[in-house]
Amino acid sequence: MTTLDNLFTPGLVAAQQPQWPGGVDGDAVKAAVSTLSKLPPLVFAGECDNLKARIALAQEGKAFWLQGGDCAETFVAATADSIRNRIKTILQMAAVLQYFASLPVIKVGRMAGQFAKPRSNNDETRDGVTLPAYRGDAVNDLEFTLEARTPNPDRLVQVYNTSSATLNLVRAFTQGGFADLRQVHTWNKGFANDPRFGARYEEMANEISRALAFMESAGVDPESFKSVDFYSSHEALILEYERPLTRIDSRTNLPYDVSAHFLWIGERTRQMDGAHMDFASKIQNPIGIKLGPKTTPEDALAMIAKLNPTNEPGRLTFITRMGAGLIREKLPPLLKAVTESGAKVLWVCDPMHGNTFESSTGYKTRRFEDVMDEVRGFFESHKAAGTHPGGVHIELTGDDVTECLGGGEQISEEDLASRYESACDPRLNHTQSLELAFLVAEMLRDR
Ligand code: PEP
Ligand code: MN
Repeated sequence: MTTLDNLFTPGLVAAQQPQWPGGVDGDAVKAAVSTLSKLPPLVFAGECDNLKARIALAQEGKAFWLQGGDCAETFVAATADSIRNRIKTILQMAAVLQYFASLPVIKVGRMAGQFAKPRSNNDETRDGVTLPAYRGDAVNDLEFTLEARTPNPDRLVQVYNTSSATLNLVRAFTQGGFADLRQVHTWNKGFANDPRFGARYEEMANEISRALAFMESAGVDPESFKSVDFYSSHEALILEYERPLTRIDSRTNLPYDVSAHFLWIGERTRQMDGAHMDFASKIQNPIGIKLGPKTTPEDALAMIAKLNPTNEPGRLTFITRMGAGLIREKLPPLLKAVTESGAKVLWVCDPMHGNTFESSTGYKTRRFEDVMDEVRGFFESHKAAGTHPGGVHIELTGDDVTECLGGGEQISEEDLASRYESACDPRLNHTQSLELAFLVAEMLRDR
């Protein structure tokens, strides 16, 4: 029988871990790990397998992956309104993509677990005071005081509780009728009068309603529109959270990380001989790896060999984040090498993380134009290589924030200050997200 003892290779270096007071072997961390290891799973391993089967379809160009949510979720923002707005935004984007491209859309929230962040610097200095950097609510608090910034392992249990509450509402919305395609108008409430994308969406929603009425009249059971699959995902960063939530599945006798359906390893923690890659190689969930512009074809092939040696369909997703200026140069050699190797991977575009800069007004931001240009480069590269542009990974919120520049609303550097609410990276707001969906839908239709 498979057991969890000795599942993970001991002694490997884990990058980007918090400096817990008392150390990783201290009593406080041990207590949190022990609590987590006894709590029930947040997801069922069978759901992870279902997602894997859907990713396998997307790898063949028969479905499109839409993953979106906050850069960093926070405990205080896990409210009904905020969760509903994010779900609504993703459902609206999915409807646009599905309608215009006639492809099933795999809906994945970057939520119900996205509470930990890798950081470029361990510390942050303000006015001569140096404190530990904010590493996400899983570790410490954003407030700039010593108490708030000191890593606290009790927070790991709070991550579990907040993820559980979030996922519960997500499941209620997506199974209870809120996500019913017949509600396609309801999701747009409050936006229908937006002259640009709200109105355009409304037009599409009318057409969808007519199509659904037609299908119903032809005998299709309307109940079949009622529930949708919605999956959870986050970066598997803090190993003292992910390991105790790894369990042996009673059906298959194999280990799954039951903290989310889909886990990815970030650009900064994907060292081949590091603890995160070892972790990912040992769990059965579908796995993503972020690939930045320094990734070589040899790196990509080595990751495939480590994470998917049997070439299992749906197992591996590469999330490329090259930057608008580099994608047309850096992605094609990877597509070529991976295709020639015969490996099955899903290619997803993260057009956010290669396009971040600081505005003259001092905010970490991104230009909508750059985001779209990276997506365009992604589609162009796949067209030239004969491979499938499999999906997008977007930092977004359903709220009306001002964090990214441009888009139809033409948010300016001066506007950033008015509603900049992100705890970490800048997100597309509701309107920008919808605009992106319309633009991606066109590219997908013409692919
Ligand atoms: C992120 O997804 O928020 C992130 C830190 O990305 P990356 O690992 O690609 O830098
Ligand atoms: Mn981010």
